[in-house]
Amino acid sequence: MDLLHGLNAAQKAAVTSDAAVLQVLAPPGSGKTKTLTARVAYLIAHRSLKPWNIITCTFTRKAANEMKERIRTFVGEEHAKQIKLGTFHAIAVQYLRQYGQHIGLGKDFGIADSSDSKAVLKRIIKRNSFTIEPGAALSRISSQKVRGINSEQLALKAKHIEQQEFAQIFAEYETELKASNLLDYDDLLLQCCFLMTTHPQCVSNVEAVLIDEFQDTNTTQYDLMRLFAQKRNMITIVGDPDQSIYSFRSAEIQNLTRMKEHWPDTLTINLEENYRSSGAILHAAQNIIEQDESRPPKKLQATHGLGLCPVLRKLPTAAAEATWLVSEIQRMCALSGKVVNPSDCAVLLRSAALSRMIEAALSKAGVPYRMVGGVRFFERAEVKLVLDYLRVINQPDNNEAVERIINVPSRRIGDATIKGLLNEAKAKSTSFWTFIREVSQGKCRSKTKLAAPAEKGLASFVNIILSGRRKLTSVDSDKVSVVDLINLVIKKADLQAYLKNHYENEYEARWSNIEELMALAADACDPDKVRAMMQEETLPAIDGFEQRAPTEEDALSIFLANVALTASAEEKKADGEESEPVQQVTISTIHSAKGLEWPVVFIPACFDGSIPHSRSDDNDEERRLLYVGMTRAQAMLYLSCPIKNTQREDTTMSSFLTQPGVGSFFEEHGPSMSFATATGLATTLKRDRPSHDAFQDGKKSLERDEDDYWPLNGEEPPAERAKWDYGRAENPLPAFGTTRPASWMS
Ligand code: ATP
Ligand code: MG
Repeated sequence: MDLLHGLNAAQKAAVTSDAAVLQVLAPPGSGKTKTLTARVAYLIAHRSLKPWNIITCTFTRKAANEMKERIRTFVGEEHAKQIKLGTFHAIAVQYLRQYGQHIGLGKDFGIADSSDSKAVLKRIIKRNSFTIEPGAALSRISSQKVRGINSEQLALKAKHIEQQEFAQIFAEYETELKASNLLDYDDLLLQCCFLMTTHPQCVSNVEAVLIDEFQDTNTTQYDLMRLFAQKRNMITIVGDPDQSIYSFRSAEIQNLTRMKEHWPDTLTINLEENYRSSGAILHAAQNIIEQDESRPPKKLQATHGLGLCPVLRKLPTAAAEATWLVSEIQRMCALSGKVVNPSDCAVLLRSAALSRMIEAALSKAGVPYRMVGGVRFFERAEVKLVLDYLRVINQPDNNEAVERIINVPSRRIGDATIKGLLNEAKAKSTSFWTFIREVSQGKCRSKTKLAAPAEKGLASFVNIILSGRRKLTSVDSDKVSVVDLINLVIKKADLQAYLKNHYENEYEARWSNIEELMALAADACDPDKVRAMMQEETLPAIDGFEQRAPTEEDALSIFLANVALTASAEEKKADGEESEPVQQVTISTIHSAKGLEWPVVFIPACFDGSIPHSRSDDNDEERRLLYVGMTRAQAMLYLSCPIKNTQREDTTMSSFLTQPGVGSFFEEHGPSMSFATATGLATTLKRDRPSHDAFQDGKKSLERDEDDYWPLNGEEPPAERAKWDYGRAENPLPAFGTTRPASWMS
C-alpha cells in the first residue's frame, strides 16, 4: 500500500521531511494525526528505522489504539506490534518496570489512580482537620510536581498558614504513597525523567520520537520527550494552539516556542485544508475561535461543500433539551437506518455531571449509549473492591488497599482496631500487611487489643491474601490466570453474599459488573494475548544494561497497570477486536473527545456558567473548548441551551454564541429531519441516500410521538438545498480569514 496515497502536498512534505525536528501546526481536521501516523510508517518503510526504536505518544489510549490500527495497515501486523506507541504514562510505566531497579524502584510498584490519590488526601485532610477539597489538593500537588517542586521545597517557601497547611498535606501524601509503594500519575512521568537523566543508556536505541496533540503537553511530558530523543534528536510533533484545553492540568502552550529555542533548526509545516467538517460547520466554528482577538489569523480551507446549517436551539428546560436531542437522534436513525446509526452520534458535554438527564432520556427511549469518562467502570465500588484484592495479592505492601479491604466484607474488625494496628505498623516501620500477618501467625504481639471475633476476622483476611499469593507465586505460576485469582477472591471472601446483603435490589447490576471484569481479565489473560502482550511490553535489549524483561508471571501486574491507565471499560470494549460492534451513541466530555470525530455532534447546555464554566477563570480556554467540541462534527452539528437549567434557574445563552453576527452561522429552528437533511447526511457519509418512501415511513412513525415544542415540517426541501453536495467542493469556499461569506446562509 502506498502510504503517501491520498495525502495533499503539505501532508506529503511533512511525512517525507528530512528535518530532524519537525513541527506540524494545523487546525482541527486537517489531517495532523493522519500525517503523524503516515510518518511513522514512512520512517520504517523508507528510512529503515526499526519499529521498536520509535516512540509515539498520543493523548488517550483510544487514540493510541486507533493509530496502531492505522499503522498496521501500512507496515503489517508484525512491525506495528513492535512500535512503542501509547500515552506518555503507559510508556513511562514500561520503562520503569523494566529499568526501575537502576533508580531503586522495585518491580512491583503499584499505580495510584486519581481516585486512590484523592482517598489518601481525604484521610490526611480529615486527620489534620483541614478544609481543602481532596480534588483541589490533588490538582495543586500535581501542578507543583509538574514544575519539579517537592513538598520540602514548598515548605521552605510557605509563608501563610494556608500555604503551610498545604505543604504539610503534600508531605504526608508523599510519605503515604511511598510507604505503600505507590506512584501516582505525576510520579510515573517524573520518575521516568529521573531514570532517563541518570541512565541515558535505557533510551540509547531510540531513533525517533513522535508526539500527537502537542499543544496539551505539560513541562514533565516535554522533558520526557526531550529525554526519549536525547541520543538522536529526531522529533516530530503535531498540534494546534487553538485546541489547547488542558492548561488547568499544567499544559504549557509555550512548549512550542521552547522547542524552537532548544532546536533552532526546527522546521514548521502548516496544513491548511480541512477534511473533516462541512463548510457550514467549519464557518460556525471559525467564527467562534476568531472572537479571540489576540490569536494570529490562520488560513483554513474547507474541502467539503457547505452542507447542512448547524442548529442552535433553545429549549424550555434541561429535560426538554434531553428529550429533543434524543428524538432528533431517533429521527435520523429512523430514516431507513442506512443514513445514520446511533454510533454516528456523539453528545459532548462541558462537564460529565451534565450527563444524567441525557442518559435518562436515552435509556427511556431505548437508544443504546456508552459513556466515556463518566462514572468509570473501574471506579465502581464492587469492581474496585475486587481489584483491591488483586492489588494486595500482587503487592501486599500497598497499605492503602489493605486498609480499604481488611474489613470489607465485614470481619468485625472495627475502625479503632484498624487504626491501632496501622499505627503500630508505622511505628515499627513495617508495612501494614507484614505486621498483621505476623500478628495473625502469632509471630508478634500487637498492643492493640483484638477481641476474639476481630482476631478470627484478621486471620481469615490474612488467609485469603496468602492463598492468593501462593497461587500467584507457585511453581505453576505461568498457568495462573487473573480470572483464577478473581474466582479465588470471590469464593474465599464470600463476595457474592456480601453484594447480595449490601446492595439488595442492585445486586444483579453489581454482580454483572464483576462478571464484566472477569470477561476483561479473561480476555487479557488469553495465552496468545499474554504472549503478544509480553512482546509488546518488552523494550529492546540494550547491550550491557540490565533489564527486567516481563515474564508471564507479570501478567497480573500488567493487567493492573492497564486498568489504572484505562479510562473506562466501555472504552476498552469499544477498542477490543473481538467485541461485537454495538451501535451506541457516545456521551463524552469535550475534553475526552479531543482528536476524535463523529458525523453528528450535539453540544447541549450551552449557557453561561456551563460554557464558559463558572469555575474557570480562563475565558479563552473555554472558548477553545467549545471550538474543539464543534470541530468534532463532520456533517451535522447541534448546539442547544435550556432556558432553565436542571435546578430550574433561568439561564443566559453562552456569551460565545450571543456575539454579534454569530446567529447568522446557525439556523434556529431547523432543520427538522427532512428529506433534504437525510440526503445531505447520506452524501456526506457516503452512504445510500434514503428513498423518498423510506423517508415518508420514518416520518410517519415519528409523527406519533410528536412533541409540542417542535413542529415537524418535513415537507419537500427547497430546491437549492436538495443540491447540497458534500463531495469535494467544486468551488471551494474562500479561505477563512480572507473573505467571510457574508450571506451564504440566507
Ligand atoms: P484534530 O486536530 O481534531 O486532532 P487532525 O488534524 O488530527 O484533527 P485527522 O484526525 O488526522 O485530523 O483527520 C481528520 C479527518 O480528515 C480524518 O477522517 C482523516 O481521515 C481525513 N483526512 C485527513 N487528510 C486527508 C486527505 N488528504 N484526504 C482525505 N481525507 C483526509
Ligand atoms: Mg488529531
